[in-house]
Amino acid sequence: MCITEIGTIALYQSDVFSQFENIIHGFTTRKGGVSRGAYESLSMSPRRGDDIECVHKNEEILCRELSLDIKALTSTRQEHTDRVEVIDEKRIGYGVKTPWDYGVDACITTLKNVPLLCYSADCVPVLIYAQDICAIAAVHAGWRGTEGGISKKTVQKLIEIGAEPKNIYAAIGPCIGQCCYEVDGDVALKFEEKYYVQKPMDKYMLDLGRVNYDLIKECGVNEENITLSGICTKCNNDLFFSHRGQNGKSGTLAGIICMRE
Ligand SMILES: [Zn+2]
Repeated sequence: MCITEIGTIALYQSDVFSQFENIIHGFTTRKGGVSRGAYESLSMSPRRGDDIECVHKNEEILCRELSLDIKALTSTRQEHTDRVEVIDEKRIGYGVKTPWDYGVDACITTLKNVPLLCYSADCVPVLIYAQDICAIAAVHAGWRGTEGGISKKTVQKLIEIGAEPKNIYAAIGPCIGQCCYEVDGDVALKFEEKYYVQKPMDKYMLDLGRVNYDLIKECGVNEENITLSGICTKCNNDLFFSHRGQNGKSGTLAGIICMRE
């Protein structure tokens, strides 16, 4: 995954998607927005305490730089669920213009020119493209969503609507790394032993990015079609928002994906 400057913003982009000219995608950094303080500057979520006017301005900036239709911008309502929603015409703009009535942590669409957003600030953002059925997905996976298998459920949904695993591509964006993600035993022990390192005093270092990678692989997706960024948001707090790195008060990054005609 490498960083690309596009106008005023800077995005991490995955090699697995760059072969597809019809796919616009990226994982945002803090760069290029108008928010201030803990939200400086490209904070994307309307639900984290940032000035809503600034968030809307940031949405405009992101869509302008990527030449996306802001009226169609559609996002999750992240509540650490394992709910995957398919976005049809009636649901274009949900999460941005029209609030969801319930938690939705992953969105899928087969519609062209409908950008899907997921938010993160240490949690794991995942973008997916099923080439054969022309479908895209944006997924938010914290530890609860990861435990609920949300990445896997999203890929399974794509398979259910006709995708073949070999035609599915996925990018796992910057998230808190195993270097920094210390959790108690009650969280770590929900996962297989290979995903954590035990420390003294019932503390564990958990690798959530790797769990999501394996969840996608378990669906039959080829390893070479999955990118795991391996970039830690807390270690690089100057470039990324980090919930832990900023003591719980931070802006949010976004994973964004859109399919053109
Ligand atoms: Zn780290």
